[in-house]
Amino acid sequence: MRKNIVAGNWKMNTTVPEGVELAKAVNDAVASTDIKCDVIVGVPFTHLTAVKQVIDINKVGLAAENCADHNSGAYTGEVSAPMVASTGANYVILGHSERRGYYNETNEMLKTKVDLALEAGLKVIFCCGESLEEREAGKLEEVIGAEISESLFHLDAEQWKNIVIAYEPIWAIGTGKTATSDQAQEVHAFIRALIAKQFGEDLAGDTTILYGGSCKPSNAQELFAKPDIDGGLIGGASLKCDDFMGIVTAF
Ligand code: PEP
Repeated sequence: MRKNIVAGNWKMNTTVPEGVELAKAVNDAVASTDIKCDVIVGVPFTHLTAVKQVIDINKVGLAAENCADHNSGAYTGEVSAPMVASTGANYVILGHSERRGYYNETNEMLKTKVDLALEAGLKVIFCCGESLEEREAGKLEEVIGAEISESLFHLDAEQWKNIVIAYEPIWAIGTGKTATSDQAQEVHAFIRALIAKQFGEDLAGDTTILYGGSCKPSNAQELFAKPDIDGGLIGGASLKCDDFMGIVTAF
């Protein structure tokens, strides 16, 4: 059965006390609302342990925003997948376009990160998406196809069950420019067909594919109504509990 998910990506925002407050508010709101999707908060590494203490992990999932491409050793400043898992987090966001763009993360490097995350028992929210130039040059399918196949198509069917895809057109992230629901649906359908070719129709049908890019309470319902859009990865609007819950309750 395909799950609907709304996941927040706080990025590099909030101090630990501010993050704990926000997580508490989300947890309380989720507990007191009749919700029809899974809810996850993606928080900075420094916040994981403290946030874990104030949420009910059975109601609100907890994600790191990245992990290292090594498990341990002399990699100053890095945080590994087993370290993330040891905080009690159950998800990790990998391949966000900000990590690909600012920190030169490649499909090959992400393949390693995916393997280490799964090995550590984490579920992966794997981001993909095209730039405006790539879209306008007609390279959308080529770019997304390579991102997904080069980092994920070595997995077996059992491993695949722990993958959530997030389609995030780079031109829509933090810009206020949302893809139209039809534009997003078209790409989601392409991604699901790609997965079906690799893993079969059943597994593709069970795969959660999130949309990300300036999703907010006012456009979430229209996006989530599309047959291949199973929820959202939410940046800016996940930093205010009311806005985030406005998206969660769009289902
Ligand atoms: C994101 O960074 O994953 C994102 C979707 O950001 P925003 O919602 O702010 O566009």
